[in-house]
Amino acid sequence: MTAEVIVDIAHSEVDRIFEYRAVEGTEEGCRVKVPFGNRIVDGFVMRLKEGSDFDASKLKSIVRVIDRALTKECLALVHSISERYHCSKALTLRLFLPSEMRKGAVRELFKTYAVLKDGQAEIPARAKAQAAAYAFVCENPRFGYTELCEKFGRGAVNALAERGTIVLEKERVNRSPYAGAEIKAPAHSLTQAQKNAVSTILSSEKRVHLLHGVTGSGKTEIYLTLIAKMLDEGKSAVFLVPEISLTPQMSMQLRARFSDRVAILHSGLSAGEKFDEWWRLRTGEAKIAVGARSAIFAPVENIGVIVIDEEHDGSYASEQNPRYNAQEIALLRAQYNDCKLILGSATPSVETYRKAAEGEYGLIELPERINKRPLPEVIIADMRREVRRGNNTPFSAALRDELESCLAEGNQAIIFLNRRGFAQSVVCRDCGNVLKCEQCDVSLTYHSEEGCLKCHYCGASYRMPTACPACGGVHLSYTGTGTQKVVGELKKLYPSARILRMDVDTTSGKEGHYKILKKFADREADILVGTQMIAKGHDFPAVTLVGILDADMSLHFSDYRSGERTFQLITQVAGRSGRAQEQGKVVLQTYDPENYILRFAVNYDYKGFFRHEISVRKATAFPPFAKIVRVMVTGEEDKKALGSLKEVYFSLKELFEAHRDKFLFFNKMRSPVKRIQNKFRYQVLMRLTDDALLPEIYARALAGKTRDVLVYVEENPANLS
Ligand code: ADP
Ligand code: ZN
Repeated sequence: MTAEVIVDIAHSEVDRIFEYRAVEGTEEGCRVKVPFGNRIVDGFVMRLKEGSDFDASKLKSIVRVIDRALTKECLALVHSISERYHCSKALTLRLFLPSEMRKGAVRELFKTYAVLKDGQAEIPARAKAQAAAYAFVCENPRFGYTELCEKFGRGAVNALAERGTIVLEKERVNRSPYAGAEIKAPAHSLTQAQKNAVSTILSSEKRVHLLHGVTGSGKTEIYLTLIAKMLDEGKSAVFLVPEISLTPQMSMQLRARFSDRVAILHSGLSAGEKFDEWWRLRTGEAKIAVGARSAIFAPVENIGVIVIDEEHDGSYASEQNPRYNAQEIALLRAQYNDCKLILGSATPSVETYRKAAEGEYGLIELPERINKRPLPEVIIADMRREVRRGNNTPFSAALRDELESCLAEGNQAIIFLNRRGFAQSVVCRDCGNVLKCEQCDVSLTYHSEEGCLKCHYCGASYRMPTACPACGGVHLSYTGTGTQKVVGELKKLYPSARILRMDVDTTSGKEGHYKILKKFADREADILVGTQMIAKGHDFPAVTLVGILDADMSLHFSDYRSGERTFQLITQVAGRSGRAQEQGKVVLQTYDPENYILRFAVNYDYKGFFRHEISVRKATAFPPFAKIVRVMVTGEEDKKALGSLKEVYFSLKELFEAHRDKFLFFNKMRSPVKRIQNKFRYQVLMRLTDDALLPEIYARALAGKTRDVLVYVEENPANLS
């Protein structure tokens, strides 16, 4: 037999099939070791066939089979995915495997047991240790080999084995990340609205459904019911959440409901745990894959339902090559498996909602919270008035009043601010110089706890200078408020309140997020201050107040999605308030109280927001009525990067000249952030009427790659900086 193999080398030059002679055990989907040039490399068996397109006698043989990692489905989808994102098959195949496994750094873990075989052993009288070990094994007919050796000595145990009294058996062990962390989450009996949602989805012809339900409307229970149904039918499920460390409650709920039929694919796991969880899915021992974006490649077969919770979340689009979108992959998998895809959100993306409104997707609306609990009341605080009144703290009078009564009643509060650190930037009052990162064209943020300046783009950290590096002046001042400063101010105002802070700086380490969330859930703190990390899906019953300090900050980014993002963020953060018995409140601070986006958010008017937003997008020809394509050209040498940019630009310009009717916009420029991590950044920015020219754009852009200059293509990028 001949094996068609893709070698695991990312270069496009070797991105084709190589033929090898199959060896025993070679199957389609196997990972294998093959000779390539004068090296031995990993490869993937895509297909087995009789005969060869070449001289069969000259074919080299596969060296050995590593494992059967790839599913049939993976082999079937690789081609369309690599074509869609214009990346090599090897790179595409890597998406389907945990990276640890490719590096060969982890293996299965085995434990050896000593198992009693021969009931009547004749042990010489002088072999005291053997006799003791024998007596012990009679009592414990299956016992860990290592532990037994520790008790009675390796010599004695091995002697028993030689005698045939015991045999040594190897057994695979799973390194389970959540052993011992079992909690119980009883299944609720579904409300009528939930029942309707489930039956609509199951009976509908449509493959994809948008579950648009306000925060606290019980979407989770609908997902779980659908998954349970599919398991009953012998099928499997994939469940995506935006960031798994931010949503421990969701994974715990799944574990509680489905115990070890759930496998959690989580970047915070140890390499061994990841490996074992992945194999539990691959072998079919586990049926439900839970994880963030990359879990969409989970090796489950015969899928019954794919759930994407918080479908609007930006994290579902990869910002690394290949820049895939998990929703697109989910759709491919749903088609392949002929199964349901559920997109859930309280604030669906404009693109998704439009598809649902136009009937391409099924639409299920849950406009009320469970048990008709009211949505929190939103109070708008006009910060311009506060400033005029001489209030220069980050808190409005309204927020302070509400905080006081919230704390007095023994409830919890969340304060949201989308900026970490102490001060956004440091400015020299003598010369106006703003302190900037040496490697990036961005201002540095002052972090008071660490007493240093940090770059939020590359993570570099600098000592706080005593004088301005430009003019030597010593009058450095801080502008803009960050989470650290807010905590300091809160401590001054409420000395007895217990305050937690959650942002990138406090959540490092394997369980960083979990620890803070658990502390807050266990009522070990009264106030949680945090960045957008705290906006996602958490369910803290004692929270009755949410303060949003700078509701309009994200409104002023020069990005067509800033209105949508602001609406989503406010709705999501507000949704953390008043989820249990007590009525929740939200204080929303803004310098722009008349802004239409804020008005829609305050009234929980998603449809109003959508109608407005979609008409703006249509009038201005932005997505979903157009596609934004950005070709990024970056390199450490400015000249070389600029050279490549020109090349790419002229090549694309030909296309533009030939198809002017397809272009709404076409230009080249420096990127808004001119340099990141020492790399100069240029871009060709385009707006297209449709996707027809995409393949040609990719081809022309990627041809501009050189050894020193990186070129990549982004479609509707989440971030245009
Ligand atoms: P969402 O995901 O839509 O924000 P959740 O699924 O978190 O909402 O549900 C909100 C709250 O309602 C949770 O505390 C959940 O336990 C509860 N809940 C959900 N379904 C039911 C039900 N059928 N009966 C009673 N309580 C429910
Ligand atoms: Zn930097």
